Amino acid sequence: MSYETFYQRSINDPEAFWAEQARRIDWQTPFTRPLNYDNPPFARWFCGGKTNLCHNAIDRWLPSQPEALALIAVSAETGEERTFTFRELHAEVNRTAAMLQTLGVSRGDRVLVYMPMIAEAHITLLACARIGAIHSVVFGGFASHSLAARIDDARPVLIVSADGGSRGGKVIPYKKLLDDAISLAEYPPKRVLLVDRGLAPMQCVAERDVDYATLRAQHLDAQVPVVWLESSETSCILYTSGTTGKPKGVQRDVGGYAVALATTMATIFGGKAGGVFFCTSDIGWVVGHSYIVYAPLLAGMATVVFEGTPTWPDCSVWWKIVEKYQVSRMFSAPTAIRVLKKFPTAQIRNHDISSLEVLYLAGEPLDEPTASWVTETLGIPVIDNYWQTESGWPIMAIARELSDRPTRLGSPGVPMFGYHVKLLNEHTGQECAANEKGMVVIEGPLPPGCIQTIWGNDERFVNTYWSLFDRPVYATFDWGIRDDDGYYFILGRTDDVINIAGHRLGTREIEESISGYGNVAEVAVVGVKDAVKGQVAVAFVIPKQGDSLLLRDVAQEEEQAIQHRVDDQIGHFGRPARIYFVSQLPKTRSGKMLRRAMQAICEGRDPGDLTTIEDPNALVEIRRALGE
Ligand code: AMP
Repeated sequence: MSYETFYQRSINDPEAFWAEQARRIDWQTPFTRPLNYDNPPFARWFCGGKTNLCHNAIDRWLPSQPEALALIAVSAETGEERTFTFRELHAEVNRTAAMLQTLGVSRGDRVLVYMPMIAEAHITLLACARIGAIHSVVFGGFASHSLAARIDDARPVLIVSADGGSRGGKVIPYKKLLDDAISLAEYPPKRVLLVDRGLAPMQCVAERDVDYATLRAQHLDAQVPVVWLESSETSCILYTSGTTGKPKGVQRDVGGYAVALATTMATIFGGKAGGVFFCTSDIGWVVGHSYIVYAPLLAGMATVVFEGTPTWPDCSVWWKIVEKYQVSRMFSAPTAIRVLKKFPTAQIRNHDISSLEVLYLAGEPLDEPTASWVTETLGIPVIDNYWQTESGWPIMAIARELSDRPTRLGSPGVPMFGYHVKLLNEHTGQECAANEKGMVVIEGPLPPGCIQTIWGNDERFVNTYWSLFDRPVYATFDWGIRDDDGYYFILGRTDDVINIAGHRLGTREIEESISGYGNVAEVAVVGVKDAVKGQVAVAFVIPKQGDSLLLRDVAQEEEQAIQHRVDDQIGHFGRPARIYFVSQLPKTRSGKMLRRAMQAICEGRDPGDLTTIEDPNALVEIRRALGE
């Protein structure tokens, strides 16, 4: 079947299409209705069906390939390397599931996971899935303040963490950051389960903190039956940034997520049982949730959990793994490749990476030089794919396993099955013609695996995503354009969300952190193009004691103090690359900050239409601050 036919069927008859795809996973109770869309935009997939993500990821493979590799956990930081077959992973997950139960976790409870990229992190997530607990992973790069906000929203009964992690040879004190977050949180968890790696100090809090290894030793022979869940029960919450400072908990189901991921492995990612899939993301991001934790195992492949960076201690770290474990498919982000590109390629070429067939890249626009570098240096095709935390799997890509349609530089391809993508004119809401810029939207219902709602806030879900146009379509908040051949190009966000090294952050979040600093009267943060990270944050600050800051030394000190504050509160990846002090900020007469004009000036572009600006001198100030 051609991809075009496959796609059209998914749009014209989604129920029949997805009922067929649902055969890719095991159901304990078959579903009676593929889709319930009686209450749009809330879609419920595979109603009446009961299944379990952990069963489909592990138990299902036990009869056919118990001794095949399932999990490969490598830390380039500590040198530790552990592998688990499906049989061993099954045993480990059973132990951890029993540990969670001992600590009072049951079906529907939230378990917050704040962990480095170690085997226990992956095992914990699968254990949650096994017993029907809802996992909520917070990326390890987030610091206390951001972590506390996520604790308060999810209200976990248990947090699983570790003493520390490591990145580029630098230890990150998870336990300390977690303790600080818990002291800030209004809804602290009753228990904290901690893996002690001997990397960072670990002062345990009596009656609350529990040592992972000690508890594991009490459950070595545990057998915990899978809890069969309704397809539309919640499997996880994953927080993402929006335009307000408050993060949104993207809630995902069980059955729809399993079916969607299994389908993508067969059609886009070439998942073959017995193969090895290496996704370099982090379990704290959606790409990691989908393509480290679940999808490879759902396809019977081994998955790699990697702690480290692509360049530490040198650039061979990834390629050693590819060679040793015969990785066939890799998934990463353009930023990581741009970092690698700066180093000599010998450390890559010295490894036999002939097992590698394709590299998938997502998370931010893939620029031409980076795409060409991959093809030249690795000698394999690169597949750009476009998606969001909300979608959970690619909205656009090339379904390589179904189609020999060539990729097109700069384009993440064409809409994937199930996504009825359109481009709408921002003002009129009319559909755009080819080569006309518009907002990328998706007609409901969203396909299986996508956001069900915002955790605890259906109203925010509807208002944020479905109320932008006069008919209910899901807004991606991305600009896009489609060429004459149907290829899409993503042209950046329409809102105040920025993308730093593939990490999505709302400028509001950074602004809120900075505005809490003693000497800040007002602040505006914009995302500015960066050759390696895609974008970096740049802040413009009106100090309370304006004049003193014009002195260079004082300004430098203040800049560093503010950067440290962002490090401490949000995490190092949100740190503004530069902070400029100004006496006014450009606003419209109605008081709206002209962030896009500021961004354009920072990037050396024309700031565009400024007829609504209150005081043009504010832009002169911005230029002066930038040294123009
Ligand atoms: P996140 O939710 O963190 O995955 O970020 C999603 C956003 O990243 C999207 O709304 C896009 O702005 C951007 N993005 C993701 N993948 C791509 C891609 N392949 N090309 C261009 N932008 C992308």
